[in-house]
Amino acid sequence: MPEDKNKNIKKPLLSVIAPMYNEEGLVEVYCNTLIAELEPVMGNYSLEVLLVDDGSKDSTWEKMLEMKKVYPHNITLIKLSRNFGLEGAVNAGLKKAAGDVIVAMDADLQDPPSVIIKLLKKYEEGFDVVVAKRAKRENDNAFKRYSAKLYYYILDKLSGKLTLENDAANFRLLSRKALDILNSLPEVNPVFRVTVPFIGTKTGVVEYERDKRYAGKTKYKLASMVRYALNSLTGISVEPLRKIFYLMLIEFAASFVLLLLWLFGEKFYKDVYIILFAITVSSALILLAISIIAEYIAQLFLETKKRPISIIYDYIPFEKDN
Ligand code: UDP
Ligand code: MG
Repeated sequence: MPEDKNKNIKKPLLSVIAPMYNEEGLVEVYCNTLIAELEPVMGNYSLEVLLVDDGSKDSTWEKMLEMKKVYPHNITLIKLSRNFGLEGAVNAGLKKAAGDVIVAMDADLQDPPSVIIKLLKKYEEGFDVVVAKRAKRENDNAFKRYSAKLYYYILDKLSGKLTLENDAANFRLLSRKALDILNSLPEVNPVFRVTVPFIGTKTGVVEYERDKRYAGKTKYKLASMVRYALNSLTGISVEPLRKIFYLMLIEFAASFVLLLLWLFGEKFYKDVYIILFAITVSSALILLAISIIAEYIAQLFLETKKRPISIIYDYIPFEKDN
């Protein structure tokens, strides 16, 4: 019988990046679920699961080492030297991923592993980037829903020539080519959901429903959400700087109205409240302007310092089959 010509052709490698911070209750179930759900495509791909321990204080790393023993041919471990935050953890995974195609996702099973198969379909159709976009947000509370709406609205207004997807976070697929371009950007403080649209390349979208967190608690308290939002909003363009100009115009218009009130208003003493209101409003505007500038200075600071977004302390790659 003639020998199967495809026998020795290597399957492309799929790397899945899963950042984890204090997720001891998730490591095992995440790995098992992911590997089971990807079974249908394992005829066409081999799999690398990059577990990134973002400086966890619980037994996440020990749990990862256990998983590595169970799946030595699939699991790559990365341990950061401390907690750097989600962006730093994803970035470490992006730097180390060996795959021909790479997927980044949350590790708490809110991003369902089965969606990866849909992302891969798009990739096979020739897309370099495939963004997983949330169809609904019913598993989020009202505050998170509305703050997310506002965040994506402003991000969209500031995005200039970039095409950003609303309701799309880190759950994305990149081809090796797209990842190499992304990794070649000189930014030291990149925001994944901004730099991916920045590099362009052919981008597809897959809608999915985000599940509830499988175990543990969200790591995003209000303050870190605000910091995250500000970071990506100012990281995207210099547009907010330009908006200060319009704030100034609004303030001028308001003071002009006050001038008219002072000149033609009848009950002057009652209008003391208006003046007080004007004072607070204008000082708020000034503070707003200053805080925007401060945010840019922070970005300049970070970029000039050239401090890396994360530091890899340990790297244990998956074992090659032969
Ligand atoms: N995460 C991380 N470092 C952090 C905070 C979070 O690697 O400092 C990981 C976390 O373990 C999870 C993902 O980022 O896999 C998303 O975090 P989380 O579920 O807490 O955020 P939410 O889904 O509530 O926005
Ligand atoms: Mg989550």
